[in-house]
Amino acid sequence: MYEVAVIGAGPAGASAALFTAKAGKTTLLIDNDKGMTRRGWYENYYGIAEIGGPDLVETGHKQAVKFGAELVADQAVNLIAGGEGITIETESGSAYKAKHVILATGVLTDLAAKAGVETKDGTEPRIKTVVAVNAEGKTNVDGIWAAGTVAGVSVHAIITAGDGAKVAINIISELNGARYVDHDLLKA
Ligand SMILES: Cc1cc2nc3c(=O)[nH]c(=O)nc-3n(C[C@H](O)[C@H](O)[C@H](O)COP(=O)(O)OP(=O)(O)OC[C@H]3O[C@@H](n4cnc5c(N)ncnc54)[C@H](O)[C@@H]3O)c2cc1C
Repeated sequence: MYEVAVIGAGPAGASAALFTAKAGKTTLLIDNDKGMTRRGWYENYYGIAEIGGPDLVETGHKQAVKFGAELVADQAVNLIAGGEGITIETESGSAYKAKHVILATGVLTDLAAKAGVETKDGTEPRIKTVVAVNAEGKTNVDGIWAAGTVAGVSVHAIITAGDGAKVAINIISELNGARYVDHDLLKA
């Protein structure tokens, strides 16, 4: 069983996966590469002067994989909660189990709704429905969290990436039983 499975590898999901993997948590990252991020050109991402969507997405994937996240190209079609962990079924017929699942599915809430995760009206432009989460990123279903656009944050890459990191840090803290920080020292 994975400690964390992330569904969706846009800025929200890949950022979450990079934090959980870097913290040494077994991390699965499932993505069907149909997100909005690839279509944009980014000049408002702090620390990066300008970057195209495909480069932003692919760099995020590489960062998560570098720290040990397992990136799988597939579509999650079912989430089954109850018992020990959450089962994720995919379009290709695979099934995975994880203790915690982060929904980072961008504009899509179909998977969440099918799993009994509460949704609500979105407030951001062109985002009709989002997953209802508390301040930590938890949904109404134990073990299922949400981050990024699908969790209703402002639709900007730096904010969705930050939200993914926030949710990951909350999960790592819960797994460790103590608040977690990830700070590296300047390399010589
Ligand atoms: C044309 C355009 C221009 C933009 N320009 C800017 C800009 O200049 N500056 C800015 O800050 N923001 C911009 N944005 C917004 C920015 O792209 C988003 O706010 C942000 O990147 C969304 O990240 P996300 O991770 O929440 O969602 P996404 O990037 O959409 O990622 C969601 C991922 O989940 C995957 N997924 C969904 N369901 C499943 C499933 N069931 N199984 C497996 N995978 C699944 C998708 O394939 C996708 O890869 C722009 C958006 C667009 C469309």
